[in-house]
Amino acid sequence: MEVTKITENVFQLTLPIVNVFLVDHPSGLILIDTGPKGSKDLIFEGIRKIGKQPKDLKYIILTHAHHDHSGSLAAILEDINIPVYASPLCAKMVSKGIAFEPKLKILAFLLKLITLFGLIRLQFLYIDPVFYPIKTVSEGDTIPGKNGLHIINAPGHSAEQIALFYPVKEALLFAADSAENIKSLKPSYAYQSQEINVQTLKKLTFFPFDVAIFGHGNAAGKKIFDSKFK
Ligand SMILES: [Zn+2]
Repeated sequence: MEVTKITENVFQLTLPIVNVFLVDHPSGLILIDTGPKGSKDLIFEGIRKIGKQPKDLKYIILTHAHHDHSGSLAAILEDINIPVYASPLCAKMVSKGIAFEPKLKILAFLLKLITLFGLIRLQFLYIDPVFYPIKTVSEGDTIPGKNGLHIINAPGHSAEQIALFYPVKEALLFAADSAENIKSLKPSYAYQSQEINVQTLKKLTFFPFDVAIFGHGNAAGKKIFDSKFK
């Protein structure tokens, strides 16, 4: 697990298949996304690497319910019970242990059949359900309050996804999985709708950020982000 300092107070923890982020906010340490199941120890190690302790964690924000982003939420909350923020649909999904909702009814039915109506738990479809209440957020909310991260509805990759804008000195856009920057910067696979994802990416270009960061791959500057998605 690699820790990359993105800006003065924001760190990227690169887990085996996904990035999660730590924001050292004046009101406490914020974790953005929780990695797949089994990531808790790696995340706690990352927290220590930036000179903090797991008990310093004060808030969690989930960008979306996919298992690689929400899979360790239940385990982390068993250790430290702190507020979790997510979109209303994301909150509903993780409370039920659902990580992925197919957009097509026929696909949903086929998956049900393949998993013998839920008896076989495919890792990418399900997570450990989260029994703690999740605080729901809407576009324009700031978490954790004043000078916090601005919530942006960012559907397309998945219907429940949010992105985050953090207007500090070096302003950041947490683009979640709307795009990825693994080999090159490009839109992520749109499980909900390619068209909606393109609209989301266009909308994100209007935010005055300096650096964009992603669930998968490396950070990118505003210039390249705009050149691809405006
Ligand atoms: Zn995803």
